[in-house]
Amino acid sequence: MKIVVIGTGYVGFVSGVCFSDFGHEVVCVDKDADKIARLNKGEVPIYEPGLEDVMARNVAAGRLTFTLDLAAALAGAEAVFLAVGTPTRRGDGHADLAYVFQAAEEVAKNLNHYAVIVTKSTVPVGTNRKVAEVVSKANPTLEFDVVSNPEFLREGAAINDFMRPDRVVVGVEADRAKDVMAEIYRPLFLREFPIVYTDLESAEIIKYAANAFLATKISFINEVAALCEAAGGDIKSVSKGIGLDGRIGGKFLHAGPGYGGSCFPKDTQALVKTAEDYNVPMDITKTVVAVNAAVKERMVGKIIDLCGGDVTGQRIAILGVTFKPETDDMREAPSLTIVPALQKAGASIRVVDPQGRHEGQTLLPDVEWFEDAYGAGEGVDAVVLLTEWNEFRALDLKRLAEAMAQPRMADLRNIYSADDAAKSGFSAYVSVGR
Ligand code: NAD
Repeated sequence: MKIVVIGTGYVGFVSGVCFSDFGHEVVCVDKDADKIARLNKGEVPIYEPGLEDVMARNVAAGRLTFTLDLAAALAGAEAVFLAVGTPTRRGDGHADLAYVFQAAEEVAKNLNHYAVIVTKSTVPVGTNRKVAEVVSKANPTLEFDVVSNPEFLREGAAINDFMRPDRVVVGVEADRAKDVMAEIYRPLFLREFPIVYTDLESAEIIKYAANAFLATKISFINEVAALCEAAGGDIKSVSKGIGLDGRIGGKFLHAGPGYGGSCFPKDTQALVKTAEDYNVPMDITKTVVAVNAAVKERMVGKIIDLCGGDVTGQRIAILGVTFKPETDDMREAPSLTIVPALQKAGASIRVVDPQGRHEGQTLLPDVEWFEDAYGAGEGVDAVVLLTEWNEFRALDLKRLAEAMAQPRMADLRNIYSADDAAKSGFSAYVSVGR
C-alpha cells in the first residue's frame, strides 16, 4: 500500500519510517526544504535512538522516500497521514489547528482519487469533522474519508512504542476506510497488539484523556512528595507502595521537577479549553496544570535554599536540560523555567546535556556549555541534576565533589541518596520528597 505522511517531525518521521518497515511504500512530505534535503542525504534531523538504522534499511529497500513535492507524492496514495504540529495557540491555550487545516486543504487540492485522510496529529474533539469540511470545500468532487488515528509514542522510545504499541486507536466511520486502516496496521494485528476501532469523537478524546491522566499521576505524586518533605516520609517508598497496587500501577509516579515536553503541557491546556467550549468543568486537569507550574517554582526555591538562601554570584552547573532523557526535544522542558529563574536570582549557569545543546543554545541564553558533568562541575557552588540521562546516573560523585568549589547537590530526579552524597564528600544534598 502506498502511504503519504505530511510532516516529518517526531511523529510524522517515526510513523513514516515504521510504516515503511511494515512493508508499505511511504513518501514523507514536509515544507521544510532543509529537513527534506538532510533526510535525502540519509541524515536524521532529530535525536531518537534506533531511528537511523530503520530509516536506512527502508530507504535502501526503496520503500521510503522524502520530498517537498506534495502533488507527486500523492499520486496513487491510498492513505494520507496528517502529522503536523498542533502547538498551543498564542494567547488563549487552545490547540492551534492552523497547520492541520492548511495541510488538509493542500492535500485536497492535490488529490484526484479516493484516499483516506488520517489525522495523526493530536487534535481536539470535533476536529476530524472540520477536516472533512475543509477537504470538501477545497475539492468538492473528491471522494475521501477521514480517520482519527492519534499517536501515543514517547520520544526516546519511539520506534519500540510504534512497533509494539499498548494499543492502536482508530476512529473511523466508513467500512472502506476501516479496511484501509486494517491493511496498514495488519502487521500489528497479526502480532495481537490491540486495535481499538471507535468513532471519530471517542478517538480524539482518548488521546487527550490519556495524556491528561498521565499528567495527573505526575502532579499527584509531586504533591505527595511535598507532603513527604514537610511531614517526613520518602516518596520513593510511597511511590513503590502505591504503585504495586495493580489498580494504580507504578509508572508515572516518579517525583521530580514537573512534566514538560511537546505533549503534556499543551494537551492538558487544550483539554481544559475544549471543555470550556462545551461548558463542561475540567477541574482536575486545570489543577494538574497549576500544580505542575508550582512544582517548577518549588524547585527553584529548593536550589536557592541549598545555596544558603541567596545565589547572587554563585556558579551552578545544570546536568541535563532536555525535558527527559534520550531526546533532544526542549519543548516546555522544566529547565526553561528553572534556569532563567536562577539567572534572575543572580546565579551564573553552566550546562551539560548529551543532546540538548543544539536546541538549548538559543533557548537558554547566557549559559556556558560543557561536554561532561566533571568539566561543568569544576569550581562551581552547586550542581543540579535536572534530567536523568544515563551518563548522570552513574557519576563518580567523589570526583565531582572534589572538583567543586562548594560540593552541594540538588538531585531533582532522586538518582542518588543523602548517604551517597555525604560519603562522597558533598556538604549538602537535597532531592525531591525525601
Ligand atoms: P513537529 O513540530 O516536530 O513536526 C511537525 C512537522 O510538520 C514540521 O517538520 C513541519 O515543517 C511540518 N509541516 C507543518 N505544516 C506542514 C504542511 N502543510 N506540509 C508539510 N509539512 C508541514 O511536531 P511533532 O512533535 O511530530 O508533533 C506532531 C503532532 O503529533 C502534534 O499534534 C503532537 O501533539 C502529536 N504527538 C507528538 C508526540 C511527540 O512525542 N512529539 C507524541 C504523540 C503525538
